[in-house]
Amino acid sequence: MLVPSPIDQFNFEVTRRCNGHCFYCNIWKEHIENGSEISPQDLKRGLRPYRLFRKVRSIGLTGGEPILRTDLLEVISELHEICPRARFGLVTNGLLPERFLKMVQEASKLLKNPVAVGISLDGFSHTDCIQRGNPKHSELAWKTYNLLKENGIAAGFESTLTKLNIGEMAAFREGLLSVGSSHAFVIAATSEHYYHNEDNKGFMPLDGSDVEAVEDLKKIGAGAIFNYYLPSYLKKPRQIFPCFSGLTSFFLNSKGLVYPCIHLNRSLGSLLENSFGSLWYSDRAKEIRREIVSGKCHCWTACEADNTIRNLMYPAILMRLRYAPAH
Ligand code: SF4
Ligand code: SF4
Repeated sequence: MLVPSPIDQFNFEVTRRCNGHCFYCNIWKEHIENGSEISPQDLKRGLRPYRLFRKVRSIGLTGGEPILRTDLLEVISELHEICPRARFGLVTNGLLPERFLKMVQEASKLLKNPVAVGISLDGFSHTDCIQRGNPKHSELAWKTYNLLKENGIAAGFESTLTKLNIGEMAAFREGLLSVGSSHAFVIAATSEHYYHNEDNKGFMPLDGSDVEAVEDLKKIGAGAIFNYYLPSYLKKPRQIFPCFSGLTSFFLNSKGLVYPCIHLNRSLGSLLENSFGSLWYSDRAKEIRREIVSGKCHCWTACEADNTIRNLMYPAILMRLRYAPAH
């Protein structure tokens, strides 16, 4: 039997409820009932029996706006039991500064490692507020950042790049780095099962004509591998490196469905009806892995690329080769 190596990281959409109005995302348009998400008890039942979670290095908690989930601390506590070594990442749109600070402080008491915090901010105030669909977004995102800082919690900003903000992004990035904030960026992308934005033609994704502007970004700040290869991806969209999603990482959505990643709409099945092992070692999972290895899908987003970049340095690459087509 082909057995994937231990899980290295996963992203978990804790809720799809969102108080944002970003123009490149349709999540906020959905009506989601409080309490409709996969519960901590379901996570315990579905994931705890598996040793392959013991060495998980990072868990990205995403949304929606994660802190709108009222039992988020219980969720974090349960995931910490399941993945004792994992470092948690928590993203926020920054619209609820005091509530977010309280959540990070409470979560930090439960965990061994500090929570890695990312606050969304898409450029200088005017542009950011247009992209984020809220005239107060920039002010509140900065308030969240400063509040965390005053309380000794390190946080960084994350920007989603579109044709609207790419022109100012180099100057914006330089400004953030000069005040000591970290800055990560992703390109606005479509996802049928995550952003639900495949029909949203107005979100102005970058393309080959934006390569020069993206080249400027990678000159500012540390030359992370992700930033370095982004222009190359825009010139020719493809799997830049062999992808490890579905092999050493996965995406769990708030309804309990397991996917290889946030982009590929190929679900392995539901954690509410199956144990994780029966999904992860299934024939369907093997078929999906073969598709990924054959290069049928592609993307270049930091949350997925980081996993791939890490794995390229480890023997996990040998395991991936087992799924490669014979010719
Ligand atoms: S990008 Fe994030 S903050 Fe914006 S609407 Fe979508 S889920 Fe909400
Ligand atoms: S290449 Fe991108 S879309 Fe395809 S499986 Fe990997 S992360 Fe997902």
